[in-house]
Amino acid sequence: MIKDFLPVSREDMEKRGWDQCDFVYVIGDAYVDHHSFGPAIISRVLESHGYKVGIISQPDWKNSDSITSLGTPRLGFLVSGGNMDTMVNHYTVAKKRRAQDAYSPGGVMGKRPDRATIVYCNLIRKVYKNKPIIIGGIEASLRRLGHYDYWSDTVKRSILLDSQADLISYGMGEHSIVEIADALNSGIDIKDITFIDGTVYKAKELSSVYDAITLPSFQNIAGDKRKFAESFYIQYSNTDPYSGKRLIEPYKENEYVIQNPPAKPLTQAEMDRVYSLPFMRDYHPSYIPLGGIPAIEELKFSLTSNRGCFGGCNFCALTFHQGRIIQTRSHESIVAEANHLIWDKDFKGYINDVGGPTANFRHVACEKQNTKGACINKQCLFPTPCKNLKIDHSDYLSLLRKLRSLPNVKKVFVRSGIRFDYLINDKDNAFMSELCEHHISGQLKVAPEHISDRVLDMMGKPKDSVYEEFLRRYKKTNERLGKNQFVVPYLMSSHPGSTLKEAVALAEYLRDLGYMPEQVQDFYPTPSTISTCMYYTGLDPRTMQVVYVPKTPHEKAMQRALIQYRNPKNYDLVVEALTLAHRTDLIGFDKKCLIRPKTKGNRYDNKSGKTREGKRKKSDQYGDRHGSSENVSERSGKSKNKLNSYSSKSNPKGNGVLPDQKRNDKTGTVRGRSNEQTPMVKNTVNKRNKNNGTGRTNRHKRVTAKR
Ligand code: SF4
Repeated sequence: MIKDFLPVSREDMEKRGWDQCDFVYVIGDAYVDHHSFGPAIISRVLESHGYKVGIISQPDWKNSDSITSLGTPRLGFLVSGGNMDTMVNHYTVAKKRRAQDAYSPGGVMGKRPDRATIVYCNLIRKVYKNKPIIIGGIEASLRRLGHYDYWSDTVKRSILLDSQADLISYGMGEHSIVEIADALNSGIDIKDITFIDGTVYKAKELSSVYDAITLPSFQNIAGDKRKFAESFYIQYSNTDPYSGKRLIEPYKENEYVIQNPPAKPLTQAEMDRVYSLPFMRDYHPSYIPLGGIPAIEELKFSLTSNRGCFGGCNFCALTFHQGRIIQTRSHESIVAEANHLIWDKDFKGYINDVGGPTANFRHVACEKQNTKGACINKQCLFPTPCKNLKIDHSDYLSLLRKLRSLPNVKKVFVRSGIRFDYLINDKDNAFMSELCEHHISGQLKVAPEHISDRVLDMMGKPKDSVYEEFLRRYKKTNERLGKNQFVVPYLMSSHPGSTLKEAVALAEYLRDLGYMPEQVQDFYPTPSTISTCMYYTGLDPRTMQVVYVPKTPHEKAMQRALIQYRNPKNYDLVVEALTLAHRTDLIGFDKKCLIRPKTKGNRYDNKSGKTREGKRKKSDQYGDRHGSSENVSERSGKSKNKLNSYSSKSNPKGNGVLPDQKRNDKTGTVRGRSNEQTPMVKNTVNKRNKNNGTGRTNRHKRVTAKR
């Protein structure tokens, strides 16, 4: 077998002595042959089964010649929009075009169309009327049945119909893609490939469809939100590979879309085999003069240890895509990959991550999952951990120990999310201890998401008291280790269930924390999540109870502004939100106030973000009221030094909350990851106000941030 990138041109095919590809894979991302990229895995898996796969990456969708560059494939086309849904990739939650695309050469936006899967398939259909087209990846997976599309604010049909493709390989596709390829190779017509788990197909009649649940028709769900919620919950309840049933979605007479049950999870041996395939672990060299592919930077020295998540956050579509059953690679497989990457010329001694969707899930939630799957009507961690849940970090700990003992390795970071509710229920403190001692660099990112139990319940997240307990444990552990390390809490605005009252409570929490997120994660209704269903229907599909949904752009902007209430640009929105929430007691000069009132001699020009009296006045109006420890302003440009001056030494009660963004020394601001998902933390945590609107009576000890 040649160890090289798969062919991207006729010349590459000739070098391998190929006249024809078995499959031509059309992808919306740049071609990166690394196992963090879905098309790389699928193409290498097919190659390992003897199939010839050529790659057409980011074709010119206005020119059908771009789709013919590798000739006619023998078995068919594979199409993926890329590692992200193209609409999420292209637009912010405010539906504004993003400036950059981390999956395109040089990060340049515009290299693929919106809804790329549909556009590419239609382009292929123009030229190849009858060639099989199989679609996969996140875009196809999460739009496999009728779904709510936030960007058009409509219910859309299965992507199978709009794309004119023949088959969807949904979820993790290693099993299904090989079965599809073998079926086509054996001469079975694509229209007769209706029997493979993990696939969705079209049918004109149902005589051969057995053991299935019929969902409400597309017409019904498109015209009736209650029906949509009912249909969604049936889909959600059938995502398990052991218990999931076949689903029929009727469209019109003689038109049905049928989802077969999910594919079985990969065994550890299968996972190891996939990750040992001969990936080049980099982007195609043709992108070098174009500036490379930004997305690979963080991934190149990261190790995937697991798939799946039994966390079940309602705003996450992972249950629909990877499922709740954890699949892991063996230590040997991960260490072998690490042993390879530590000798890479660009390796600086830092393994960026060892994780997956949730880093500290290294085994199935309970033994039952191995044979019967996850419970349908019960969550493993929510509202409290299930009594059958195995809480044990010993395997993950042992893996991390092995990795940090490798030559050339200075540090092994854990940057994938940690489920803190799982962690604190581990009776053994060893993981917390070693995590703090060896695997973070001063800051740990966790995702409490909100502080209101009402909103947390809608999110499927544990109560706020669980996060507080985690903070206590984290602080205690760091004190014992003599370390001054912080937590970066990710928070979300405008999630269903959050009224202005809850948003104000969150702002008060941030006030007491002395925490000023530079960027806010506003709830993004991406396809196929419970939260998106709530957003669209106003109903909780789990209970069919009515849920309050902050929906208008203006209300979303107010909730978002409350999180960043110190930003001068948000002043008018914050005043409006506090007035509507009947909380004008938070406008004034008192310590508890979020903002100061507009005064005659201190008028604020909202457009420029400046007061007429200049900076000093602006500062007076927006922030200099918390005393020195909370007064580290990113506007002042002095924040870095000030932040550094706070420590547990200067503040013996200190513990901290701070993000991992790079600080811009010129402006004193802090940059987040790439979009509205990353908050920024400033410095202290004070006592939390008893009267914050949540009915909570806890008191937070002062905690201090330091970089
Ligand atoms: S028994 Fe408990 S841990 Fe096991 S799948 Fe069900 S909810 Fe999860």
